[in-house]
Amino acid sequence: MSHPIQFLLRAKEMPTHWYNLLADFPEPLPPPLHPGTKQPATLDDMKAIFPENLIAQEMSAERMIEIPQEVRDVYALYRPTPLLRAVRLEKALKTPAHIYYKYEGVSPAGSHKPNTAIPQAYYNKLAGTKRLATETGAGQWGSSLAMACQVFGLECTVYMVKVSFHQKPYRKLLMQTYGAKVYASPSRHTAFGRKMLAESPDSPGSLGAAISEAIEDTIKNHDTKYALGSVLNHVCLHQTVIGEETMKQMELAGEEPDIIYGCAGGGSNFAGIAFPFLREKIQGKKKFRVVAVEPASCPSLTQGELRYDFGDMAETTPLMMMYTLGHKFMPPSIHAGGLRYHGMAPMVSHCKKLGLIDAVAVTQTKVFEAGVLFARSEGLVPAPESSHAIAAVVDEAIKCREEGKKRVLVFNLSGNGLLDLAAYDTYLSGEMQHPTSGGGA
Ligand SMILES: *Cc1c(COP(=O)(O)O)cnc(C)c1O
Repeated sequence: MSHPIQFLLRAKEMPTHWYNLLADFPEPLPPPLHPGTKQPATLDDMKAIFPENLIAQEMSAERMIEIPQEVRDVYALYRPTPLLRAVRLEKALKTPAHIYYKYEGVSPAGSHKPNTAIPQAYYNKLAGTKRLATETGAGQWGSSLAMACQVFGLECTVYMVKVSFHQKPYRKLLMQTYGAKVYASPSRHTAFGRKMLAESPDSPGSLGAAISEAIEDTIKNHDTKYALGSVLNHVCLHQTVIGEETMKQMELAGEEPDIIYGCAGGGSNFAGIAFPFLREKIQGKKKFRVVAVEPASCPSLTQGELRYDFGDMAETTPLMMMYTLGHKFMPPSIHAGGLRYHGMAPMVSHCKKLGLIDAVAVTQTKVFEAGVLFARSEGLVPAPESSHAIAAVVDEAIKCREEGKKRVLVFNLSGNGLLDLAAYDTYLSGEMQHPTSGGGA
C-alpha cells in the first residue's frame, strides 16, 4: 500500500486564530432575546451567568479572533490533531471515494470538547470566577470542563443527566479524578431539581433539566459562573480550530473535499469542521457540500421548527432562534448521549436556513453498524456520536461505488468510544432497539 494515510501538522502550524462566521453571514443572525421582555438580550442580562469577556466574544463580529497564548499552551497537549485517510474503510466498501477523517479523540478527555472547555476556563479565571457549574449528558462535556478547570485552578460542579450517571460510571469517575463534584440530575441540590423529583421521582433526567439546575446554582452563588459545552456562538467559535487545521491538512493531502460531514447534537463539532470551509463557500471560491448528521430520534434540524425557543426546561436562558423540537422535548435515552439536545446551535440553524448546509438523520442501528465497520477496518473505535457522521459517509461512499464516481469525503471524528463500550455491548448482543428507543445512554 503506497498511499500516505497520515497528514500531520507541526506544533508551530497550530492555528493562532479562531474563525468567526458571524462576520461573514450574508444575512445577520437573529439576536438572542431576554425571556421576560422579549427584547434583544444585553450584556447586563447575561452577566449573571457568564463572565464579560466571554459575553463579548459571544456577540463579537470580528472575523479572526486571536487564541490567547495561555490557551494555545494547553491546546498543545493534543493539538494539532491528525487527519487520516481511511484507505481500509474505502477498501472494505469497494468505493472509488476518498475518505478522510479529522480525529479529535486524541484530546485528554477523548473528544473535541476540550477545544472550548480550555478557553472557557481560561477566560473565567481571567475574570475572577472561582467555580464553574455545568451540566453533562453522557459525561464528555463534564470531563472536558473538569480537566480544564483543574488546569486553570477553578472548582467545577457538574449536574449529570441521571440515566447516564448510573449507566456510564466511568466518565463520572473521570470527572471526579479531575477533582469535580458530580450530582445526578434531577438532584436535591437545587429548587428546580427538587420540584422535578417531587413530580416524577423516577425521571431519567435530560440535558434541558440539568442546564436548569446548573444555571440556578450559578445565579445563587456569586463566585460561580456557568459554562455550556455546545450551542452558543463562542463555543462554535472555539471549535473552528478543527476546520482551520483540516484545511491545511487537505492541502498536504493534495485534495479538495467534495462533501464535509459532522455529527450534530448541539452543533459545535460540526460547526468546528464546517465553518472555515463555509468561509470559502460564502466567498464563492469553493462549492463544497456540507452535511450535518443527526439522530433520527432527536432530529432538530431535519424535523424541528425554526423559531425562538429556550435552551432549558425551566425557561431561564435567553430565547434563541434555532431549529428546535421544543424545550419540553424529552429525548429517548439513545446511546449517543451527546446528541440528546432539543435544539440546534443558532449559528448552525442559520446556516441551514440560508442553504449553506444540508442535514440528514440516521437511525441508531445504522449508526452502530457503521461504527463497528469503522472499528474493524480502521482499528479505531469511534464514539457513537461520531458514528452518525460515519453512517452518512458510508452511504455516500456506496453511492459513489454505484455511480462509479470518485468523490472526496471528509468528516470530523469527534471522539473515541472507549468509554462507550457498554453501548457497543448492547448492539453486539442484538439487544439494540430500532430506531428511536435505545436501552440506555
Ligand atoms: C458532545 C459530543 C458530540 C455532540 O456535541 P456537538 O456540540 O453537536 O458537537 C459529538 N461527539 C462527541 C464525541 C461528543 O462528545
